[in-house]
Amino acid sequence: MNLLHKALRIRPLSAEELVRIPSRLQRNVISTTPFTPNQVVIQGEKKQSFTFDHVFGPETTQKEIYDKTVMKLIDQFLEGNNVTVLTFGHTSSGKSYTMGTTEKSTHESKGIIPRSITTLLSCVNSTQYKTRKPFMKVSFVEIYNDESTDLLCEGGDRKLNTSLTGLQEIRVNSAEEVAGLLSLGQLNRRSNAQDLNRHDPDNSHVIVFSPKLNKQFDGEWVTVTSKFHFVDLAGNEMVRSFGLEHKLKEHFTSTNELTTKVAIGNAICALGDPSENSTFLPYKGSKLTRILQNYLCNNIQALIIACVSPIEYNIKETVNTLEYAKHARKIK
Ligand code: ADP
Ligand code: MG
Repeated sequence: MNLLHKALRIRPLSAEELVRIPSRLQRNVISTTPFTPNQVVIQGEKKQSFTFDHVFGPETTQKEIYDKTVMKLIDQFLEGNNVTVLTFGHTSSGKSYTMGTTEKSTHESKGIIPRSITTLLSCVNSTQYKTRKPFMKVSFVEIYNDESTDLLCEGGDRKLNTSLTGLQEIRVNSAEEVAGLLSLGQLNRRSNAQDLNRHDPDNSHVIVFSPKLNKQFDGEWVTVTSKFHFVDLAGNEMVRSFGLEHKLKEHFTSTNELTTKVAIGNAICALGDPSENSTFLPYKGSKLTRILQNYLCNNIQALIIACVSPIEYNIKETVNTLEYAKHARKIK
């Protein structure tokens, strides 16, 4: 069974923004109300409201997000469902912070990935599984401009095809090992290696955990083959792709760039009602869409976390993110 859960996270304003952004643009434009805790109201030129399964305000801790949204997916995972947790939103909206791919985190600020791994590994090492030598494997892929790169591949050609043939899967036994691999992956990022002038290193990343474990079920040993995917979807690419074809052409010089950006929109919509995708966005079938669809469409329990900033300065991007989230519908 496929199921989609939708959450919204509104991040706090940073000290740096308080200095950099003119104070008139620091006005808070997004509000929640105690009577409708799953709804937000955004006050731009017009007032719009959006509904989610969970709405998390700026004061929400990393632990709270994890406990309320991800923890129950771990049970689903151990029951044999594939799980995908996807963050999306504009650049600097808090996607990587929420996901936990940023390196410098304290115990409290640890994000979803390290928290999930700790829980998964402790489940896997529990007595229920232990007798059958369980382990986990991890992969780390970067997607940028319709190309995918294996970030855990040491030397050689890191480029991958759509079916991700030859993707490195590295065995891990502890949360520390996972953290080490994530840092290694960060070092191998395309933005570092090939494009030093690129100002915005906000590319899409997919991190996959596949366990090798057997569990006892009604007295029988069964092998769990489900996978746990974490997708950090590039912000600027998603946001600007919103809208119609002719509008988009004003923004982009190359068709390839355009296609990729729209494809990310499609990937989110792939989680929704397929009949609606074709009219919502004009392009389908790019490499990136296909890669992501593999992760998003099969027997999936998916959680998408839309990330936004609370202030007027980012209002356009915020509205676009909310619109995207609205189009990702419950899968029937
Ligand atoms: P993105 O991945 O969407 O581009 P980041 O996750 O890198 O954005 O966040 C941008 C900055 O804001 C980072 O410095 C990050 O540490 C900070 N930040 C994001 N969300 C929060 C939050 N909920 N609490 C505190 N700091 C945050
Ligand atoms: Mg990021």
